[in-house]
Amino acid sequence: MKAAVLYENFQPLVVENLELEGPKDHEVLIKLTASGVCHSDLHYIKGDREHPMPVVLGHEGAGVVEETGSGVSYVQTGDHVVLSFVPTCGQCNYCVRGRQNLCDARYQLRGKMLDGTTRLRSGSQEIHHFNGLSTFGEYAVVPEDSLVKIREDAPLDRVALIGCGVPTGVGAVINTAKVKPGSSVVVLGAGGVGLNVVQGAVLAGAESIIAVDIYGNKLENALQFGATHMVDASGEDVIERVRDITRGDMADYAFEVIGSTAAINQALATTKRGGTTVVVGVTPAGAELTIDPDFLHLDRVLMGCTYGSCYPRADMPMLIDMYMARRLKLDELISATLKLEDINSAFEALDQGEVARTIIRY
Ligand SMILES: [Zn+2]
Ligand SMILES: [Zn+2]
Repeated sequence: MKAAVLYENFQPLVVENLELEGPKDHEVLIKLTASGVCHSDLHYIKGDREHPMPVVLGHEGAGVVEETGSGVSYVQTGDHVVLSFVPTCGQCNYCVRGRQNLCDARYQLRGKMLDGTTRLRSGSQEIHHFNGLSTFGEYAVVPEDSLVKIREDAPLDRVALIGCGVPTGVGAVINTAKVKPGSSVVVLGAGGVGLNVVQGAVLAGAESIIAVDIYGNKLENALQFGATHMVDASGEDVIERVRDITRGDMADYAFEVIGSTAAINQALATTKRGGTTVVVGVTPAGAELTIDPDFLHLDRVLMGCTYGSCYPRADMPMLIDMYMARRLKLDELISATLKLEDINSAFEALDQGEVARTIIRY
């Protein structure tokens, strides 16, 4: 099967034919329909985050079950699925307490399948998996626990985005921060995930939704997703603008969706006393955050967030139902649809801040 392989940091992905071994115990072979190109993949290309190499990246995919390994009971051949980049075992301490996004299984993968071996190779060379998924290929063998069965009338080339960007952004608002109706919300960074924070804030009934970015095209997108105000951080004083817009109060909630320690500080400074800041962006490994503790002294809350604190098998089908009922925007997130051969240009556009989401269609 054809797949895009990362051999070295900062080098283009190599699109080539790989051997993919069939599914073993509690694994499933998926014929992928589409994969989103996410900023987290770019972090690994640039070496901001380390991963065993070579590796097939990609963690935002949807497709159809082609073959099931022994012991698989959750799906059968022909089922439509979205892939979760956190396998949820249902039995660990986190899963049984309803914190499936933190499942132990996530930390057992380390570039391999859950049994510690790989299914991917190029000749005699072992190729690593990514989050147990590796969606930048025509097929993927994944753990059964990484699958979310979905309704068959949902278009697979759109709902692939339900695998990462949408639950991450919407979930940060609904599950992590639990934004209340009538709130004021600041969103720093209006890329693929930031736009989903904006639409999450709309769903939560926020009164003002202030989008902040340095790219005019991204701010325009944010308005389309329901932002009530936009602030151009390349030329405007973000904190003063938020003060004006909130009539001196500052915001109830701020979401940092960039992955920058400066932006985390800025987010904190836009919140009122007792306000909540949620860090959604992924900072480079080794980054250090310095904050004025006085901010926290005034009942402010600084929170982390992974995968929108979601439970994939409950939240993803719900988000798809909302899309099908036209309550959630997905089509508008997609800036371009490309073939796998053109994947490197998708990463260039992402790096330049030109796109919300590019979809690779198989
Ligand atoms: Zn992602
Ligand atoms: Zn678990």
